[in-house]
Amino acid sequence: MFTEILQKLSTSRTTLVAVSKTHPPERILALYNKGQRIFGENRVQEMLEKYAALPKDIEWHLIGHLQTNKVKLVAPFVRMIHSVDSLRLLEEIDKQAIKNNRVIDCLLQFHIASEESKFGFDETEAREMISGDIFPRLKNIRICGVMGMATFTDETRLVRSEFKYLHDIFQHLKKDFFNADPHFCEISMGMSGDWQIAVEEGSTMVRIGSLLFGPRG
Ligand SMILES: *Cc1c(COP(=O)(O)O)cnc(C)c1O
Repeated sequence: MFTEILQKLSTSRTTLVAVSKTHPPERILALYNKGQRIFGENRVQEMLEKYAALPKDIEWHLIGHLQTNKVKLVAPFVRMIHSVDSLRLLEEIDKQAIKNNRVIDCLLQFHIASEESKFGFDETEAREMISGDIFPRLKNIRICGVMGMATFTDETRLVRSEFKYLHDIFQHLKKDFFNADPHFCEISMGMSGDWQIAVEEGSTMVRIGSLLFGPRG
């Protein structure tokens, strides 16, 4: 499966984030040995344990909701945080990045699904944050784009429209705030069930778990 997915992604130059949550380090190492370097986890504690156990050239992407009090734990090594959903969190990431003398790549997570409970900004909130006083002072975070999760459903038309919506948000923000910033280039969307639709709608990063590793327990 890994090779087939990579082959399809290569034509659209989409990056694969292999979502390894719940799976043990040996499973990650097996994919690492096939060349995969980017792995995604949604829990801080689990990511810390795997970071300690595995080769240091793995790029760890945090894809799940992040509590501010846990930012300091991942700040020394996390490669990208996909799940930034508040200014308070962004300020804490900046603070911990400064302490670690680094710049941390972040994506703004948007609420695009029709389901209620998911985290994320809406476009208005994000625009207010970006044009506010505090945001421009955060020098140790780098906003690299946007992330979103579509509704978990077989209705491909709905899923497609949600991905289109995220793509629109990306383009609006790019045009109005990040036009001169080459780092603002990522649209993280697409999971095991909907990654092909996401790629058709302009995804630059898919986050695929069960299709690579099998079902989670
Ligand atoms: C678990 C998870 C994924 C991967 O889900 P699969 O359906 O197993 O591919 C992607 N993104 C986020 C935010 C996740 O929590």
